[in-house]
Amino acid sequence: MKGRKPIQDEFTHLAGTVSRQRIWQLRKYAEGKCVICGAGATTAQHCDAHAQQARVLSRETARNRLGCKRRNLNSRSYKIESSRVRDD
Ligand SMILES: [Zn+2]
Repeated sequence: MKGRKPIQDEFTHLAGTVSRQRIWQLRKYAEGKCVICGAGATTAQHCDAHAQQARVLSRETARNRLGCKRRNLNSRSYKIESSRVRDD
C-alpha cells in the first residue's frame, strides 16, 4: 500500500458527500480547535484572532443587509482584545 492510511473516525463516511475541507473543519470542531487555523478554540469554533474576524465579518454583513451608514467603532464586536479574557 502506497501513501498514508486514511483517517478512520466518525467523519470518514462523509467522504464524497461533503468536501475534504468540510471534513477537516468538522474534525477540528470535534477536537475543540479553531476551524480555520487549528489552534485551541476560545469560542465554540474559533481561536481569539478568528473569533474577532468572524465578529467583524458578521457585523459588516448585517450592516450591508440593513443599509447602515454609521459605523460605531467603539462597539465590542470591533474591539481587538478577546471578550472572554479579562484582567481583573
Ligand atoms: Zn484560528
